[in-house]
Amino acid sequence: MSANPISPHSALADLQYRDGILVWGGKKVTDIASELGNTPFYAYDRDRITRRVNDLRAMMPDRLHFHYAMKANPMPEVVKHMVGLVHGLDVASGGELVTALATGVSPKDVSFAGPGKRDPELKAAIESEITINIESEGELGRILQISETLGKRPNIAVRVNPSFELKSAGMKMGGRPSQFGIDAERVPNLLKSLESLDVNFRGLHIFSGSQNLRSEAIVESLEKTVELVLELMRSTKLKSDFINLGGGLGIPYFPKESSIALDQVAPAAQAAVDRLNTELGDVETIMELGRFFVGESGIYVVRVIDIKESRGVRFAICDGGLHHHLSASGNFGQVIRKNYPVASVRLGESTEEVTVVGPLCTPLDLLGDRVTIGPVEEGSLIALMQSGAYGRTASPEQFLSHPPCAEIIL
Ligand SMILES: *Cc1c(COP(=O)(O)O)cnc(C)c1O
Repeated sequence: MSANPISPHSALADLQYRDGILVWGGKKVTDIASELGNTPFYAYDRDRITRRVNDLRAMMPDRLHFHYAMKANPMPEVVKHMVGLVHGLDVASGGELVTALATGVSPKDVSFAGPGKRDPELKAAIESEITINIESEGELGRILQISETLGKRPNIAVRVNPSFELKSAGMKMGGRPSQFGIDAERVPNLLKSLESLDVNFRGLHIFSGSQNLRSEAIVESLEKTVELVLELMRSTKLKSDFINLGGGLGIPYFPKESSIALDQVAPAAQAAVDRLNTELGDVETIMELGRFFVGESGIYVVRVIDIKESRGVRFAICDGGLHHHLSASGNFGQVIRKNYPVASVRLGESTEEVTVVGPLCTPLDLLGDRVTIGPVEEGSLIALMQSGAYGRTASPEQFLSHPPCAEIIL
């Protein structure tokens, strides 16, 4: 029996090995490396993404629609795969909008949120008839000017900066001054002005946090969000086509973290859908998720270039690091650095403690601090798990001018 190759042991019980080699997307990781001809690379597993979406769908109310928040992983093939599984896409830039539209998604199911949308981005959004989630009154003014020039009515949703905060979210938004959304207390006046403007009002969007593993916090946020939506919609004659309740479902990365209890979220989601439909008439209820859909489907694979002992620590120095995977190095908004789950691609008879680092000239380039994994030597492949979201495109790839990283979907 081989030793457990993964460190720290986390929620990743379903790793598969064939002939002692880690399998991802149905292929041995060593074969993926030979086919690509180089390391490092990201590999995403289509089936894992599909299962993930379908499992969530099976638990949640039928009438709840899901959007994919593209910034989690904007690889065009990933986005295309997601379009076949969810109701719509949320984009956060003009660049993401181009990728989104190239999939053939229906523009009415695309929304564009994000502060600081530039005029060419707004123009592209209006021309393509997607929905723009406005983040300020000034942005609305620019949209009105551009749409007048184009002779086209823009589709507008209002992103609300709520007056409450999502507890224990990895990243908090709402309840404080924010560049995101329009403060809830200002929204009634804004809706009043929209009533007489030449725009199609589509709905409200409230996103109150990310990477949450506590179901009670998600339930509380859903309840408060619905209350806020109803209060705001009572202040206007406008009718919402949709209400986007945000998302925030997290995935486990670290020891002692476990997957979110969806069986506790589902009844709250059902109550939200029911209440919104009762109070607002027929309305589409949307949850937007990025990380939850794709995070567990990706691995980042590096090759060991050098093994080095230094004062009792065995270092595995690899060809990839924080320039491709900033979040695994602990430098993407984390307060305390913890190891992502790390696995040796080849199973061995034993395990050993190594510190996995990248090739950059900074001590921040740390992928696994004293992790216990299967034996590693020069040339070994090491996989970082839970790497399908906020990986390559959330990293400073140009830093130190190393070669770019490959990406493949299997
Ligand atoms: C980033 C973002 C998301 C996705 O967050 P995840 O934690 O990846 O699910 C959803 N909505 C908005 C508005 C965002 O900015």
